[in-house]
Amino acid sequence: MVEKRTFEIARETLKQLTARKLVPTPANYQAIYHEIADIPNVQAFPADFFRDLSQALPIRTPGQLKQKGLFDYAVERLSWDGVKAALVGYGGFAPAGPMDSASLDTSGGAAVSFPLDSNPAALTSEFFAQVARLVEFIQPAFSDENARFTEQTNQLIEKLRSPDADATTLKGLLASYAHRVSFAAEDQAEIRKGLLKILHSVCTNIGELSADDAWFKGQIDLVVQAATPPLTLRRVDELERLLGDVIFKQKDAKYRAMEAQEEMRQMLTVFVERLAQMTQSTGNYQRTLEQSARGIEQAKTLAELAPVLKDVVGATRSMAQETLDSRDQLTVLQERAKQTEEELAKLHKELDRVSLQARHDGLTGALNRKGLDEALNRELSTLRRTGSLLCVALLDIDNFKKLNDTLGHATGDVALAHLATVAKECMRPHDTLARYGGEEFVILMPDTALEDGVTAMVRLQRELTKRFFLAGSEKVLITFSAGVAQVAAEESAPDALRRADQAMYLAKRAGKNRVLGA
Ligand code: GH3
Ligand code: MG
Ligand code: MG
Repeated sequence: MVEKRTFEIARETLKQLTARKLVPTPANYQAIYHEIADIPNVQAFPADFFRDLSQALPIRTPGQLKQKGLFDYAVERLSWDGVKAALVGYGGFAPAGPMDSASLDTSGGAAVSFPLDSNPAALTSEFFAQVARLVEFIQPAFSDENARFTEQTNQLIEKLRSPDADATTLKGLLASYAHRVSFAAEDQAEIRKGLLKILHSVCTNIGELSADDAWFKGQIDLVVQAATPPLTLRRVDELERLLGDVIFKQKDAKYRAMEAQEEMRQMLTVFVERLAQMTQSTGNYQRTLEQSARGIEQAKTLAELAPVLKDVVGATRSMAQETLDSRDQLTVLQERAKQTEEELAKLHKELDRVSLQARHDGLTGALNRKGLDEALNRELSTLRRTGSLLCVALLDIDNFKKLNDTLGHATGDVALAHLATVAKECMRPHDTLARYGGEEFVILMPDTALEDGVTAMVRLQRELTKRFFLAGSEKVLITFSAGVAQVAAEESAPDALRRADQAMYLAKRAGKNRVLGA
């Protein structure tokens, strides 16, 4: 009976499908069947499909893990509502209430999911891309000798950039990367320290070995100085520039020295050949003389003596000629040797001059730190030997950063050179100007008491207010603050400079553009 009814309902359903011109899909068939049979048209719960879906859901956050668990539980209970709530939670939306724009990812990146109590905008693919960039920027700081670490880093970057990256996996990878980075960073620091130590001991040894070559030792000292931590790119650059010229000259000198050596070698060869010839000639002359002596002994008549005498005179004449030739040739050789010697001496002088440049600051022409150290040591030893006076002034340009910011770094450089020019013109010939740091200068004033040192600095200040320079069409005036210290008899150079620096600092605190004695 039931079967018959089912059969009739099925037939009627097919008729209705045709009558209503509906596509005979299983869904349409089911809807009309339920309508005719008068039973609610409830969709079957697609449990298998949902299980498949659950398998495919990526888990990137603990929140997603929790929602996936809820989803699986709802599927087992065939609960549509449970499935709905779990999917809403998994998608990162508030489970109830109207759509809340604050809970949506508006960053433009694909929402990766987050725990419900975290900031939803934080864990986007954009965020992971930023982390990838960070890792990429850090990479050059480590050597790529450790292939495993490099590979791990590249994998992490790739994963961070992958659109279907999984947050839990990423978290694990990042933790392991951080662990390795901490070791790699320690390694790098140790390697750097070790290399600097080696460089120091190599330089010290070379410096001691070549103590006679002042210009060479000067370069080595510079390398040691530049390799003393803290290292800055600026110091390394400056050293490279300073050494560039010296190294060029050195190459030139080496080439010339080799040429000179070759010339000397050739001259010596000629000299030795000549000497051999002379020895031979002398030998021949000796033999002729001995023969002649025998001839003279045996001669009984004057007629017999005549040819012997002729031989002696002939041999003596050719010997004299030969000696004369040799002397001329040796004189020429001597002249050439002298010339070469002079040329080499000139070259060495040139090297010394270039090496001296290595004690000067390229921008301002003032002494650099190394030059200042040497000059200070000289002045201090004079002071200790003769009990004379010495003032050190430390001056720092006022608001220089602002000048750089408003007129550009290049104008800043012109300002530094300008101050150095005016200072040199204002100073006495035996005063010394040195660039102490960026916009700081030191002036050494021998035979000067504190009061006079302060006066000299004030004079320089006045001069600077009179002499501006042009940046384009703009007049630029620079001022400085300075501290002056008179070096005490037993005081060390750093102590005196420290006192001058403190006075300079007080001058800044007191309103800048002033000079204070320490
Ligand atoms: P204060 O009056 O307190 O001394 O202020 P300041 O701005 O002069 O001092 P600060 O130490 O803040 O800035 C110094 C600036 O000098 C910063 C740096 O960029 C600049 N500087 C250092 N060396 C050079 C250089 O060789 N050329 C140029 N143009 N600027 C330099
Ligand atoms: Mg300064
Ligand atoms: Mg300054």
